[in-house]
Order: sequence, then C-alpha cells, then structure tokens
Amino acid sequence: MTDEVFRLIDLEKQRQSEGLELIPSENYVSVNVLKAMGSVLTNKYSEGYPGKRYYGGNENVDQIESLAIERAKKLFKADHANVQPHSGANANEAVYFAWCQPGDTILAMSLPAGGHLTHGSPVTRSAKIYNFVGYGVTDEGDIDYDELERLAREHRPKLILVGYSAFMKIPDFDRVAKIAAEVSAEHNYEILLMADMAHVAGLIAGGVHPNPLEHGFQVITSTTHKTLRGPRGGLIMSMGKVSSPLKRPEHTLENVPTLIDRAVFPGTQGGPLEHVIAAKAVAFEEDLQPEFQDYAHQIVENARVLAEELKRLGFKLQGNGTENHLILVDVKSTAGIDGKFYEVALDKVGLTLNANALPTDKGGAFRPSGVRLGTPAMTTRGLGTEEMMKVAEWMKRVLDICVEAGNENGLGSHEAELKALREEVRRLALDFPVPGI
Ligand SMILES: *Cc1c(COP(=O)(O)O)cnc(C)c1O
Repeated sequence: MTDEVFRLIDLEKQRQSEGLELIPSENYVSVNVLKAMGSVLTNKYSEGYPGKRYYGGNENVDQIESLAIERAKKLFKADHANVQPHSGANANEAVYFAWCQPGDTILAMSLPAGGHLTHGSPVTRSAKIYNFVGYGVTDEGDIDYDELERLAREHRPKLILVGYSAFMKIPDFDRVAKIAAEVSAEHNYEILLMADMAHVAGLIAGGVHPNPLEHGFQVITSTTHKTLRGPRGGLIMSMGKVSSPLKRPEHTLENVPTLIDRAVFPGTQGGPLEHVIAAKAVAFEEDLQPEFQDYAHQIVENARVLAEELKRLGFKLQGNGTENHLILVDVKSTAGIDGKFYEVALDKVGLTLNANALPTDKGGAFRPSGVRLGTPAMTTRGLGTEEMMKVAEWMKRVLDICVEAGNENGLGSHEAELKALREEVRRLALDFPVPGI
C-alpha cells in the first residue's frame, strides 16, 4: 500500500520544512489550495469554455471555472480572464499565437538583461516561429527605454512585451505605451502591448505594484504559482470586447480577449486541468482578502531590508537594490567566485536559491556570475525583517567559507562549519511551519 512515491513526498515535506526557500519564483500554497488540486475534478474532461463545452456533465465544472474567471478579473480589473493555460510558458505562447503571424516581430527584454526564456530564447519553439528582437537594461539596472524606442521605430513590432524573471525595478508602463502609440500612429498598424507579470502578479493583486492594464497595456500573462500563491499554472488577463470563442472574430485589438480564448483552446492546448483551475479559484479568493495586501506589502519590505543588509555586509547587488521581491547578487564582483559555486554551498546549509546570469555575463549560463533570490516564500511562512537580517548574515558566512574553500571540492574541509550553520537554519525554519505540513 505504501508506494515509494509517498515515501519520497514525505521526504520532500521534510526538506521544505527544514530549509528556507529563497527562490523568488516559489511559494507555499494554503491547505485549501492543496485540497482543491487533489480533488476528483481531475477525472473530468471539459474541452471548451463554461457554457460551451465539447463534453457533457460539466454543470459543476462550469461554475468552478466561472468563479476562477470572475475572481481573476476582479483582482486585475480586467475585462476578460482565461484561466486555462497549463503554465506561464503556455500563456505566453497562446498570446503570441493569438496576435502574431509566423515571421512577425516581437520586441521583448533579452534573456541576459532579465527577460524570460519564453521571450525569444533561440532554444524555444516561439523563437522558430516569430522574429524576436531584444532590448536591454542600463548600467543602473533599469529598462533601457531609449533602446526600446529605437528598436520599436526600426523594427515596427506587432507586439511589445514588458516582462522579466530577474529585474528589480518598477517598469514605466506609460512610457512604453506612449512609444507604441507613436509607432502605431506613424505606420498605421495595431501594436499589442503585453506584460508578462509571472513574477510580480501577486504584488499587483496586493496593491504594491502598478497594474499594467491601468497604464495602457492590454494583456497580462502570469503564472499562478509564484507571488499569487496558487497552484502551478498559467493565466491571461485582457482588455477588450468579449464575444463567443466559437466564432472567429476579426483580427483587431478590440477582439484580443476572444482571439486569446481561441488561441488557448483549441489553438495550443487540449482539455483544461479543472482540478488546477479550482485551486486557482481558491487562491484568487485568498488574494482578494485584505490580509493578502498585508502579505504583498511584507514581501516588498522584507526584500528591501534583506537587500540593505546584504549591501551593508559588502554584497554587490544588480541595480543596487530592489523595488520588488527580487534580489540579484553579483557574486563575481563581490567575492570573485561564480554563482553556481555559491548556490551549491548555500544549499548545504538549507538556503535554497538559484545561480543566475547578470546582464553583463557573456553566455556560459551554467556558471553565471550571480545568484537570484527573493522573499515571497519566506514571507508566507511568516518571516519578517528581523529574520531577513539573520538570512543576510548566514549568506555572508557561507560566502566567506566559499572564498576560503576556493572551489566546490574545497568545501569538504569546512564541513563542520557548514553543518553548524545548517542546524541554525533548520532551527529557525522549524519555528515557521509550512502550510499543510
Ligand atoms: C516563471 C515565468 C514564466 C514561465 O512559467 P512556467 O509556469 O514555468 O511555464 C514565464 N514568464 C516569466 C516572466 C516567468 O518568470
């Protein structure tokens, strides 16, 4: 009866409890979200949309998906929401497919600057279909708006994308919208403005980050499992006219919500994961509560304090700090070691984060110069600014050990020290239980 899988799940519960999750794209969902996800809804086929399904027996599923849609619309003040994308990557792919033809140009932040793989990395399917042009960031770590404008005028993109996985500033959405409006007017064609808010969606929902839909953008894509604290999945919000997805609408910006519905199903996906959609609905209701605003506020405050303390301890930070939940440490110029080595050493003491390229890195993403970390998961567990000081101190101690050790093999001679640190981290972590464990 005890499948090996359940033994491994128990080990994972222990790992999550005894360590601190610093990966900024991870979080802990509530018991109710877990419950909805593990429900019998997984048994049901429901291709189509509420009221327009290709299978019978969807009377309950229709109501559940409608709840998810209404709650998402309310969270982001959107005209329309599609809650079916299986992941953030699928959400992005569906929007490109909804609006662009093969060969069309998409202007997006380049991967080394902080953009996401799905924004045109040559290893993706999208990059084989569309022509991606990448803008970068300035030395101060902000979007290079002048470059963005120059590239928009030169390449006349069909779609301009603001979104990122390693960018610490609040984007100036109005400025991008103005650039798009000018290029669009000058060349007499429509440009779709899309914001991939996979990382900061929870900050938007929590009222501590501007909402692109209120600053001239028409589409937001997101994951639901990062700061929104829902199940693993994707989400698309849009502005425009909502009509039946059964009929192909004219290809205009006004019809983008319907074009997106058709691009998700049947364009790029089959049957929706209704157990996950139910869990999205539960998470969105949690996100609509006043306590979620406190949570979002605390994420940003924790990140600010952690960044300040790291700087005080001598760490060099990309962009010299953060305005959101993300911190990118320039490990190379702080201590002369690479990000992967530092990641491996931190893992040994129960601090989990990921090595990440810096905008200045030239290729070689396997041994990048930085590490990326963030506060959403720790904040869910209840850690506050006091604990952030402790985390910074541990990070400094591990950094010093790395410098002395020289490389990963050298860590062997620091085992006792690392073990003692591991115990300190474990003790603090156990004081802040993971929901559902
Ligand atoms: C995480 C992320 C995605 C991808 O989400 P998946 O669910 O892993 O496919 C897309 N865009 C951005 C900006 C992200 O940070």
